[in-house]
Amino acid sequence: MSRVAVVGSINMDLVVRSPRFALAGETILGTAFHTIPGGKGANQAVAARRMGAEVAMIGRVGDDEFGLTLRRNLDAEGINTECLQVTPSESTGVALITVDDSGENTIIVVPGANGRLTLDDVEGARNLIAEADILLMQLEIPLAVVERAARIAAEGGATVILNAAPAQVLPAALLAAVDYLVVNETEALLVAGTATGSPEEAARTLHASGVRNVVVTLGPEGSLLVPAEGASVAVPAYRVRPVDTTAAGDGFAGAFAVALADGVPAPDALRWGNAEGALAVTREGAQPSLPTRSEVEEFMSARHRSC
Ligand code: ADP
Repeated sequence: MSRVAVVGSINMDLVVRSPRFALAGETILGTAFHTIPGGKGANQAVAARRMGAEVAMIGRVGDDEFGLTLRRNLDAEGINTECLQVTPSESTGVALITVDDSGENTIIVVPGANGRLTLDDVEGARNLIAEADILLMQLEIPLAVVERAARIAAEGGATVILNAAPAQVLPAALLAAVDYLVVNETEALLVAGTATGSPEEAARTLHASGVRNVVVTLGPEGSLLVPAEGASVAVPAYRVRPVDTTAAGDGFAGAFAVALADGVPAPDALRWGNAEGALAVTREGAQPSLPTRSEVEEFMSARHRSC
């Protein structure tokens, strides 16, 4: 079984539905409230696990009810949580999400314990990282931790996938340690430090900083692989009717990671990512919308039948 180590964030999403957003100083009545497990790290770990990989989650939660619930949730998925640490003095990461009747949202993320992940934590998980086929990371934890984990993976021979979200300009040493940088169009420009340009141009700028392969997700247009050497490969999206685009990017990253870990060539791994992303947008929510491997396989084979 392929092995994926995820070093990343774990949040509880607190989702309020309300006819409109409250103004400063105003109290209004909302219509519904849900707590939903989230955080880019945990979402991608769940996506990878449901795609059939052996997955270990390296991260931090607070010593509170949300932390316990999130750990149980990962355990129930069959994800290894032995390196999921507890920070007693911090709350578990939360995202306060308000969705209004037009579908517009406002989100406040409080990183809490995610911001307390340390170099020691990743050193403690050295074996899990070094022995994995893939190390999968995002940017909702301290950058120094991301850099150290990437170095450990490189030393152990694991392939490093960095989903650079939320986007920021990254140090050259980190970019040089990344095998696949996965970004959406906006993130591609932000990470490349340019205001305008095509995804391909942004990717070429990133190559100059040492990234080996850039994968740009293009929403309903699919995804694009831009290797440092050789021609780009554009893989069209599967045509679906979107219901909720939450976690499309996380699903893409998780499925892409597992496909690579299984030895699928990168252009085909993009197809797996596209299928997972397409299925995720046809369902509500983040983790609840992420499909199983058999759902993805069935979806892909049904879409490739010509009659
Ligand atoms: P993010 O959520 O990070 O912005 P994208 O919107 O690019 O990421 O979505 C990730 C992937 O999910 C895309 O590359 C695509 O394969 C798939 N996807 C997203 N939106 C749609 C859509 N409307 N129809 C089909 N596939 C989609």
